[in-house]
Order: sequence, then structure tokens, then C-alpha cells
Amino acid sequence: MNRWVYLFSEGSKEQKDLLGGKGANLAEMTKLGLPVPTGFTVTTEACLYYLNHGNQLISDMKDQVMDAVEKLSAKTGKKFGDMENPLLVSVRSGSKFSMPGMMDTVLNLGLNDQTVAALASNSQNERFAYDCYRRLLQMFGNVVMGMDNSDFENRITALKKVNGLSFDNELTADHWNQIVSEYKEIYRKKLQREFPQDPIEQLYLAIEAVFGSWNNQRAKTYRRLHDISDDLGTAVNIQEMVFGNFGDSSGTGVVFSRNPSLGDPGLFGEYLINAQGEDVVAGVRTPKPIQVLADELPEQFQQLKSICEDLEKHYQDMQDVEFTIEREKLFILQTRSGKRTSKAALTILLDFYKEGIINEAELVSRIEAKDLEAALHPNFDEDALKNRVSFLSGLAASPGAATGAAYFTAEAATEAKARGERVVLVREETSPEDIEGIAVSEAVITSRGGMTSHAAVVARGMGICSVVGCERLTVLEENKATVGEEVIEEGTILSVDGTSGKIYFGEIPMEEVTNTVALDELHVIWDRHAKIKVRANAETPKDIATGMALGAVGIGLARTEHMFFEKSRLLQFRQLILADSLDERLEVLKDLKQVQKQDFKFMYEAAEGKPTTIRLLDPPLHEFLPKGADEYREVAKELGKTYNEVKRKTDNLAEVNPMLGFRGLRLGVAYPEIYQMQAEAIIEAACEVTKETGLAIQPEIMIPFTIDAQEFARVRSSIEEAIQRSLKEYKQDLSYQIGTMIEIPRACFVADEIAQHADFFSFGTNDLTQMALGLSRDDSPRIINQYMEAGIFADDPFQVLDESGVGALMKLAIERGRQVNPKLKIGICGEAAAHPKSIAFLNNLAIDYISCSPFRIPQAKMTLAQDAL
Ligand code: ADP
Ligand code: MG
Ligand code: MG
Repeated sequence: MNRWVYLFSEGSKEQKDLLGGKGANLAEMTKLGLPVPTGFTVTTEACLYYLNHGNQLISDMKDQVMDAVEKLSAKTGKKFGDMENPLLVSVRSGSKFSMPGMMDTVLNLGLNDQTVAALASNSQNERFAYDCYRRLLQMFGNVVMGMDNSDFENRITALKKVNGLSFDNELTADHWNQIVSEYKEIYRKKLQREFPQDPIEQLYLAIEAVFGSWNNQRAKTYRRLHDISDDLGTAVNIQEMVFGNFGDSSGTGVVFSRNPSLGDPGLFGEYLINAQGEDVVAGVRTPKPIQVLADELPEQFQQLKSICEDLEKHYQDMQDVEFTIEREKLFILQTRSGKRTSKAALTILLDFYKEGIINEAELVSRIEAKDLEAALHPNFDEDALKNRVSFLSGLAASPGAATGAAYFTAEAATEAKARGERVVLVREETSPEDIEGIAVSEAVITSRGGMTSHAAVVARGMGICSVVGCERLTVLEENKATVGEEVIEEGTILSVDGTSGKIYFGEIPMEEVTNTVALDELHVIWDRHAKIKVRANAETPKDIATGMALGAVGIGLARTEHMFFEKSRLLQFRQLILADSLDERLEVLKDLKQVQKQDFKFMYEAAEGKPTTIRLLDPPLHEFLPKGADEYREVAKELGKTYNEVKRKTDNLAEVNPMLGFRGLRLGVAYPEIYQMQAEAIIEAACEVTKETGLAIQPEIMIPFTIDAQEFARVRSSIEEAIQRSLKEYKQDLSYQIGTMIEIPRACFVADEIAQHADFFSFGTNDLTQMALGLSRDDSPRIINQYMEAGIFADDPFQVLDESGVGALMKLAIERGRQVNPKLKIGICGEAAAHPKSIAFLNNLAIDYISCSPFRIPQAKMTLAQDAL
């Protein structure tokens, strides 16, 4: 026989598939002895069976539900429909993955015209009893029967207005009694039948409604956006009611065990005295910060705090806890892993590690790439911000900063995004229907709601910056809002600061990324685990500094040709390549040497004495040659040559296929004086910086594009000659290395020969991939996309290392190279090196370092550490 029902006392947190997340955790907390109202769970299997067999509760299920209800009665001493002591329950959905606001809950089920009287006299609190009943009527009507919530809400609003009241808690027993009558009338009118008085009928209808809600549109959209399977189904939890709306020593609230925005320790959340269910998140009254509870109900606050701490330790995760206090007694109604910002995610994991809640391996493995990525995202530039005045502010609900055009509906936002605009969604408040609109927005602002409102929770979860509860904002209609005199129209550009809660008109520049403290600590830990080191591809002092701040252990690739793109230098460089004689070249080189030496000095200083690999010139010549008559004329004038001289020389140098032309070491062989000049500048700069700063500069000179061992040996010895000259002149000794890039397939095959002359290899995977696959780096995206669509390539080989081709060549080169030179240092630079998918392969290659662009360093280090676990 199939088992469709489990008591809370029978399940555990591992059974999320069967009991749903909420049910599994209610069971776990019951097992831990926490104050959880008793109840039972109807399984997800029952849901799927129901949905696949004509939406019918089979008798077997009903029997098991009734059985569990009996047990609930035995435990609580309450019975359905009982006039002495009526059993009231909540009916709560809960699937495997938390889907906030997607499925609905019915509270106070079991009340009817009779039992409400029993509840009133039992509790000696008539107001409370009718408040419960009207809630049941409303939730049942809305959730189970699909009626409009506003039909009900309007009645309350009207009643308050007539009586000149502002808040629900000011309404009296008589008021609620009147509302109950009106609700029953609405129910009757709309559905042409009475509200069911039989608690068991209520229960079955509610269970069916929860099962059915698995397939409602909001739930489907949420699942699609979050990649959740449609075949999981939802469980239904039936639980004895406890009452936060009993009076001033009762209340209900939601807390996070730590701050979900920044990650600071300590409870974070909100509560309402004398309230029930979702009053806290619905914005009926403004909830109080949880810290106020420490004064209002200190004992309960302490108990809640210690339960949250226990839950954190037990689950080894930050918890999002729902609680209710009934007449000073605390009950826990739900716990789950709390949604958090990326910043909070990192901070919390580090704190857990320091507090001994998780160990180092768990810390390393649990950090997610998306959080790391987001932690690196820029905020508004601080200086730019100083000169700006915000026109609106609210609660800083989700940090980060963004600029975009205002739109007032999810549809308009989605359309604008499709047109390529950046969007700021502006709403009175958001609801689950808006999630698609939120997902496409850069920022979300609302005029109502608190830190746990829908907009706040969803934006935080998606890492979208958000400011909520902007009280001065009035959203007038679908294309307009006002803030005092100011008007926001559709398309108005707004800048939103989710960290300060301030909103500005117009665009504000973003700041450069700043390293966070958390990242520094993580680098130390990653370095302990990763087998391979990570260096930066960088040549400007600014990029080098960024690389160092982001955890680089050195510079793996500084491209000297990048130093010549600036206008005045471009001229010098053109003079060099257009020179007619060695003398003329040497003349230019003398100037260039001074310029380069200065560059290298800045580089060494920025690299703080860490190993620095400088690649000698590898200019694809076509990038430097003058183009067209105007440029010929200009260059001729500037260089004191004739138009025809320039044109002739340029024509001579022009290549049909410059990528396979006169570049790299070809240049070094033809004009040894150029590489000699560079080597001198590298060494002399190192001597000077060593002397001036005391840093032990370790230059690594890298020769690009090697084909052959003889070719390399010849250029190496000419460079060494120059270096010795410099060292002699400076009367200094300095340790340096000379190695080569391996980026041509032939070099891989003759790696053993080359390694006899080289101190290190560095694989340039961009060129190596281009040549190994015979696909141009610049022209092949179309081909590669086509191949990926056709399933011929799984990935773009320029982004993810092609293991079986390029990887095999690398393996061969490493083996052959190390055979003759066991000390050969091996690195890899190029985009593909840092891709998480490439890293597992590289980890097995016994290489010393990878080198990548600065912003990719943290993730590369993290992946290396995770992979090494
Ligand atoms: P959701 O999945 O939308 O959070 P829940 O099932 O958690 O829905 O129910 C929403 C709220 O209803 C809870 O936060 C709690 O305040 C209230 N609630 C649910 N069950 C009970 C109960 N047995 N007693 C009192 N309040 C309850
Ligand atoms: Mg809810
Ligand atoms: Mg809940």
C-alpha cells in the first residue's frame, strides 16, 4: 500500500523530495525538540498521483489523512467541529525547492459558524475569534475557490473609512463580526453556494487546491526562471494553529539568523504584535525591527535567538525562520536556508568558518562563482556621487548600483529590455506576477513594503539592486510617478543605489572594483589548496595593481606591443619599422629604450617585486602600419620622409596573412637589435628598481612565437650579450630567466630541443588554438557558433580549452620539455586557461601557473582550490 501521509514526528530534513522543503524541515525541527505545532505532511507523491489521475483525492489518501487527523486530535485534545475545543489547522504547501509566494496557505481551517463561537468563549476573546474566521473566509475564498482578494480587502478598507480608523488592529469584535457576514455574502454571491461548514470538507478542498496550485501560472513562471523541474509536485502540510493575533502578548514575525544583505551576525527581521500569518509581509501595518522584541518580550526574544543559533549550527547555513508567539509562548513555524546577497553569502561562509560551524574544505567548496562574481561588481563612483543630490530615498533592500530607464509594469520593463534598454522597475509594490519584470531589470524600486517585502526578497535572491518603501514616491498610473514636485515618466533615467537606499535622476558613473576584506582572506585559503598559481595578464600599472589586488602572485604576460598604441609612441614605432638602415633604427631604439625602461620600472613597482614575465615584441605588423593616403602623408611629414618612401616601405611590409607573417621571433631574428634593446631596458629597469626600493625584482623575459630550437638559441644568445653589457654597466647582479611562448604546433613537437635552451614555457592558447584547429581567432565566431549549434563542438575552443586537440599538444610539449629540463617552469596564458571548465584538465597537467585577465583571477583561484579538494 502506498504511504501518502507522514506525521512531523516521522520525517527528517533529508526527505525534501517526498515531504517538500517545508515539511522536511518541520519534521527535522520536531525531531530536534523545538516548539513546532504538531502536524503531518501529505507527500509530493500524493500530489503527482492526484494530478496524473484526474485531479481526484483517492479514498486511500483520504483514509490516511483522516487517520493522521485522529492522531493530531489525540495529541492536542482538540477535534474538528468540536464545540468545546475545536481543532483548527493551517494548510500549507511546500515543494522541494522554496518557491516564495508561489503557492498559498490557508489558516484557521476548521472554523465555521459554530466553532467560531466556541473559539470565542474558550478564549474569552471574541474579537480574536472573528478575526480568525474572517481570515479563513478570505483565504479559503481566495486560495481554494480562486476569488479576488481585493473583493475582500475592499470591505475592510470601507469599514475602516466609515469609522475613521487607519489600522486593522483598531477594529473591534463587532467590526469583525460584521466583516464575517459580509464575506459570507460575497462568497455566496460569487460562487452561488455557501461557505462549507464541514471542517473535513474544508480540509479536502484545501488539499486539492494546494495540489492544483503546482500548475498555476505564477508557479510555472517561477520554475522556468529558476530551472526547477515541473515534475516534483508539492507536499501539503497540515498543522495545528497557533495564534499570533490573540492580543498584545502575541505576535508573528520572520527573522534571518544573520543579516541577508551584508552578512553581519545577529538576528535580522521584523515582527508584528497581535497579528497573524502574512500580515508582516503584506504591509498591513509597518512591522517593527526584531531588535525591538528584546524589549517588548525579552524572554521570547532570547529563546528565538538561541533557537536560530542552534538551527544555524544544525543546518550549517543561515536560516530564514518564521515564528509566532501565542500568549507569550514561542512557536517555530518554518525554517529554511535564507536567501542572501552575494556579499552576505561570502561574509557568512567566512564567519561560519571562523566560528567553527564549517571547516576549511567546506568553506572552499561552498562558495559559488556567481557570488564571487557579484562581489566584484562595481558601485557608483564615490567622487561622482559626492556632487549628486538624491531626490528620493527608501530602505536599502539589495546592494549594488545601477542606472536605467524607469518603467512601471513588468510588461513594459520586459519590452524595453527586449529593445536593448537598461531598465529600472518602479512599482507601488511587487507581487509574484512581476518576477519576469524584475528578472530583466537592473534595479527595482517600490513605494511600499519593508525589508522582507516581495520586491526586497526577490531582488536580493536575484542579485538585483533594490530600494523599497520609498514613502515619498507616488506611483500614479502605468506610465507615471511623482515625488513631490518631481515627475518620473516612462523612460526617465534613474540611478539606484541599493547599498545606501538613495535614488538619483540621470546616470552616475560606476566605480572601479575595490577588493573586499573577505576576498583577501579567501585568497590565503585558496592558496593553501590550489596546486597551480594564478598570475595576471597585465601591462599597465593600473591593470597590474588590479591584478595584485585580486590575488595574482605575479604577472604572467605583459605584452610590450601594447605599450605602443599611444599616439606619440606609435610614431616612434612606425619610425622603427619604416627605417631604411640599421643606423636609423639604432637611433630610434635609443629613444625607445628610455621610454620602455620607464614603463618597466612602473610595472615592477606595481607588481611589488612579484615575478614578472615580459614578452618581447610580437606585433602583428598590420596593426602598426599607416593605412591610406592621408596617413602616409601624415607619417611622411612627421618622420621627415617623402610620401613615396613611406608608401613603398609600407607596401613592402604588407602581408596577405599577417597572423602567420613577420611577427614574434621572426622579427627578433631579422632585427636582433630590437630585442636587445628591450632586454636591456628590462634588465636596467630591474637594476634601478631593486636599488631604489629594495624589492628583489625577478624579470622573466619571454620570447614569442618560437618555431625552432636553433632559432630560439640564436636570439637568446644575442639577448644574453646585451644583458651582460647592461649588468656590467650597472655593476649589479640580478637573477633573470629567459623562456618562450609555446603557441605553434611545431614547437610542441620539438619541445625537448627548445627546452635545452629555455628556462620556462608559457602556452599561448589563443594562437595555439588558432593554429591547431586552423580556425582564425578573428574570423571564426560564425563558424564556431554554427558548429556549436550543430553539436559538432560542445564549447567554443577559444573559451574552453580544447582538451583532445590543444590539450594533447600541451601534454606532449610538457612531457618532452621536462624530459630534458626537469626544472622547466610551465605556465599557460590565454583566455581558455581561466575558464572553470578548463581548470580540472589543467590541474592534472603539472603546470606551475595560469595567467589570465585581472578580473578572472578570483574565480580561477577558487576553481583551482575547489578542484584540488
Ligand atoms: P509560505 O510558504 O508562503 O511562507 P507558509 O505555509 O509558511 O506559507 O504560511 C505563511 C504564514 O502563515 C506563516 O509564516 C505563518 O505566519 C502562518 N502560519 C502557517 N501555519 C501556521 C500555524 N500552524 N499557526 C499559525 N500560523 C501559521
Ligand atoms: Mg506566503
Ligand atoms: Mg512560510
